Amino acid sequence: MRFISTRGQTPAVSFSEAVALGLAPDGGLFLPESLPDLSGKWQGWAKLSYPELLREFFAHFATDIPAADLARMAAAAYTKFDHAEIAPLRQLDDKTFVLELFHGPTLAFKDFALQFLGHLYEHQCVTRNESLTVLGATSGDTGAAAIHGLLGRARAKIFILYPDGRVSPLQERQMACTGADNVFALAVDGTFDDAQASLKTIFEDQDFRVRHHLSAVNSINLARVLAQCVYYLWAWLRLPAEARVRAEFIVPTGNFGNVLAGWMVQKMGVPFAGFRVATNQNDILYRLFTTGDYSVAAVHPSHAPSMDIQVSSNFERFLYFAENRDPARVRAVMAEFKKTGRYQFANFNRDSITTSRTSDAEIERIIRDVHQRFGYVVDPHTACGFKDLPQDRPAVVLSTAHPAKFPDVIARCIGREVTHPRLEALKSKPLIKHRIPATVAAVRSFIESH
Ligand SMILES: *Cc1c(COP(=O)(O)O)cnc(C)c1O
Repeated sequence: MRFISTRGQTPAVSFSEAVALGLAPDGGLFLPESLPDLSGKWQGWAKLSYPELLREFFAHFATDIPAADLARMAAAAYTKFDHAEIAPLRQLDDKTFVLELFHGPTLAFKDFALQFLGHLYEHQCVTRNESLTVLGATSGDTGAAAIHGLLGRARAKIFILYPDGRVSPLQERQMACTGADNVFALAVDGTFDDAQASLKTIFEDQDFRVRHHLSAVNSINLARVLAQCVYYLWAWLRLPAEARVRAEFIVPTGNFGNVLAGWMVQKMGVPFAGFRVATNQNDILYRLFTTGDYSVAAVHPSHAPSMDIQVSSNFERFLYFAENRDPARVRAVMAEFKKTGRYQFANFNRDSITTSRTSDAEIERIIRDVHQRFGYVVDPHTACGFKDLPQDRPAVVLSTAHPAKFPDVIARCIGREVTHPRLEALKSKPLIKHRIPATVAAVRSFIESH
């Protein structure tokens, strides 16, 4: 299997190259040259364990990784999860299901991608006999999940920048209390955008980049999307037969990464009925799927901060398919969007995707309602997925984070605290953060001296 860029100006690459590069050199995102046909295969997968399913699925893509290595990595990928089923599917009533994606080390769904990516990175280091420096900026969850994916790996160091005082105390502890000597939590004096801007400059410096074997943490790595495909299959195979043909997957999303994964599995011939893109008040995707208007707006911080985005970085992959796999069309749309901050689609092809938008006030109401109705506590991101549950068909709501990560909102809504032992344990660990200015020079010299 080879991988191509959505913009069509990069030669096709292997799986390992696509993972190592992250972003394609022409500015596009990597996609499989053609999607494998799973329509005659999924029937044999219902009895597989989660790691076995991960291995079977990736065998269609990671064709340049020896089968034994892939099997070993798949078996090791989720050993730090605290639930035997990895992604348990819970049934709340006759047609409401929740797929719990928060049993990983950082209690959010990003662990599915980043725990496995940690193994892929290590495999690459060993194969090439190289070391790796992973660098990223975060406003919260991604940084923590990336750190835990590389924790204690001998050949990799990870440097994560975050705006000092502007991530939640628990998120900061997840990054800065690991005790691992290959992890550097850098609290920068500035905003997330300042941190992001200095990283951009550092990545443009070819010489520095090559010398330190720099790799970026971001949400567009192909391996992340593919790792997320697996839990859709897993959940769907666990639904009762009559629910399988009609169930809608409801996905709280901002960057479009999570929902894209499920949609791609459908395009591989697994008969999922459809999806709902559930946004918070930052609703670029809601506007796109209702009116075809894809336009940047100011970010309004919400109760669901991991969905507070301006631009949906994974949307370009969906666009490629929606524009009949024509890279010239993708380039034209993205160029116009970059120039004007806006693109109006005349006939936007929504395929099997519906959408909803949830305000902060509604998030609070939903957390209360779901608790009353089902005796179940959802976090503010997951709450967006419970808005107006379908009346006429089953729903599988993807739960993207554990409620204990958002103690204040939860306590206000349900009148008691929800805790998690992993988070409680962090409170007594020493916090080791490095405070630096958000400048290129400061970041560069920190990396050089560590
Ligand atoms: C990252 C994140 C999301 C949004 O994921 P997308 O990649 O935008 O689909 C939703 N919920 C939580 C808890 C997250 O950490």
